[in-house]
Amino acid sequence: MIIHSKLPRVGTTIFTVMSGLATEHKAINLGQGFPDFPMSEELTGLVSQAMRDGYNQYSPMPGWMPLKESIAEKAHFLYGAALDPAAEITITPGGTYALYSALTAILEPGDEVIVFEPAYDSYIPNIEINGAKPILIPLVYPDYHIDWEAVKEAITDRTKAIMINTPHNPTGAVIREEDIQQLRSVVEGRNIFIISDEVYEHLIFDEIPHLSLLRYPDLFQRSFVCFSFGKTYNCTGWKLGYCIAPAPLMKEFVKVHQFNCFSCFTPAQVALAAFLKQKEAYLSLSSFMQQKRDYFIKLMEPTRFDLLTSHGSYFICAQYDRISDEGDMDFAVRITKEYGVAVIPVSAFYQSGKDDRVVRFCFSKKEETLETAAGRLLKL
Ligand code: PMP
Ligand code: GLN
Repeated sequence: MIIHSKLPRVGTTIFTVMSGLATEHKAINLGQGFPDFPMSEELTGLVSQAMRDGYNQYSPMPGWMPLKESIAEKAHFLYGAALDPAAEITITPGGTYALYSALTAILEPGDEVIVFEPAYDSYIPNIEINGAKPILIPLVYPDYHIDWEAVKEAITDRTKAIMINTPHNPTGAVIREEDIQQLRSVVEGRNIFIISDEVYEHLIFDEIPHLSLLRYPDLFQRSFVCFSFGKTYNCTGWKLGYCIAPAPLMKEFVKVHQFNCFSCFTPAQVALAAFLKQKEAYLSLSSFMQQKRDYFIKLMEPTRFDLLTSHGSYFICAQYDRISDEGDMDFAVRITKEYGVAVIPVSAFYQSGKDDRVVRFCFSKKEETLETAAGRLLKL
């Protein structure tokens, strides 16, 4: 049989590659982003309870209504958004799926989508599989801010959407009010959608507010805003998230969703409907994770890595040009094998393979994991 690949340039994701290598070489995995500490026992207890209480059949296609109501309450409390939970929220199997469904709902062949690089690795294949074209704009190294002049120059009649990710993976950069003003001036009067990846909404440090697009009614009316419970509650393996969009946009999103996943794991939705009401559980995440970031920075000080700034996510990038002039992929593979610490080469987030000799570390780990890893990296 001959299969004409719809994604001929796509290989295996860097997360799978580096996690595989970490397992093979028994390395500490600071590559793929996931916590190595336990999630809330109260939340796992609520899931077990929901199963025992008989919530084991399909939930409604767009999601369990009490959960959607809790999400709407939270969005109102945090961002002042007045949402209709029935028409504007859909529960999805993870944030990645929400992004894919949003793109699939709006894209037609030939459309262009503005993507900032380094870009989370699912964005470009998600655009291309829909027959659309990513228009790549580099974030400005080393603080990875958006070059809005470049965005303005890249806009054409075919521009269908702009993808935003704040806090940003892999760099930890965050969007500020000036960016919101610029974004507004770019899209105003044009039929351009915004896909806003806000899976790290609660992982933002240094007292910087998270500028969710839910805060801005004029921008929200053209936005699909995507979230992940995996990041908020330290349970990436749950693959549960949601998309928020105004009703006419959500109507199209749901058409894609209903014939793809249809509905998500019911017991977790029942549990989260109650757990989401505990504000402290999500509000405490930023200081908890900031402590980990700061501890990792301190541990890495005596090494020859030069850490870049991270204001959010659970990642921090580092230059290693005082250690080696190898390409970042070779370097990442070598330190996994020889020093027992897996990292992600940042060139994997560029279509061109642009290599600034930067690797990404995940610091969402127990203190002892970070200590052991830093001890090994000190030998480099
Ligand atoms: N977007 C970004 C930027 C991410 O880092 C992740 C984490 N995997 C996701 C989306 C997807 O989240 P999920 O695991 O819920 O699909
Ligand atoms: N978001 C995680 C990261 O950036 C990984 C997700 C995945 O493995 N697909 O590391």
